Amino acid sequence: MRFPKVLRTCSRSVRIGEEVVPYRVEWRRVKYPRLEFKTGNLLIILPPTYKSEISLLEEKKPWILEKYRIIKECLEKAGGSFCLFGEPFQVKKGNGGMIDFKKREIVYNPKNRAQLQKIRRILRDKLRARILEKIKEFGGITGLHPSKIFIKRQRSKWASCSSSGNLSFNLRLVFLPPRLIDYVVLHELLHLKFSRHNRDFWREVEKFFPDYRDLENDLLSYWFSTAKSGAWLFESVSSSNPPAFPTPDLKVP
Ligand SMILES: [Zn+2]
Repeated sequence: MRFPKVLRTCSRSVRIGEEVVPYRVEWRRVKYPRLEFKTGNLLIILPPTYKSEISLLEEKKPWILEKYRIIKECLEKAGGSFCLFGEPFQVKKGNGGMIDFKKREIVYNPKNRAQLQKIRRILRDKLRARILEKIKEFGGITGLHPSKIFIKRQRSKWASCSSSGNLSFNLRLVFLPPRLIDYVVLHELLHLKFSRHNRDFWREVEKFFPDYRDLENDLLSYWFSTAKSGAWLFESVSSSNPPAFPTPDLKVP
């Protein structure tokens, strides 16, 4: 017999400081409780043995407030300027399917798939060039070299590292400022040596990016802000999936 995934559910809200945070509780057949910010909304998942979410909520209030504020701010900003590699670009409808990096302009016909694919290809090539350059640079220092590099349209992560030593990067990285792209590259590269986010891993990260905590927060914030402003570029791959937090390759804890 198969059990339903979600046993019971309810929707409530909690006041934390000046914010009223709405949330949903789901009782599932899981071992441990967890909190997620999928699609920007707080979801609390509880094992059947938990009667209520109150004590968990109490304990996690600072974490919830921090994430809630970041996400709220991002969603307010979203839909504003459209950025590529950290620079604002104008998106114009017209025939062409081209990107002018000097004029910071993209011209394409939304009804023409080939043009959209061409734009993606241009962006993919530019992103690949940046990633390869950084892999060479960081690889020279760390002695770490991936087997293969992939650039994909991933749903829920900025990047990932496979057990066979391949690194995959999300095409959505094209929306980030170059330094943040570089951070993601280093982060994944270090996973070739440290598979987990343990102290040794962060100590190594810190040597290259002392402000990595801020960068991790930026990654979360960009995930939401680019979900709206960059959605047209990704069409079928819906962008409102779980954000990568607290690291480029992890879903919300
Ligand atoms: Zn990681």
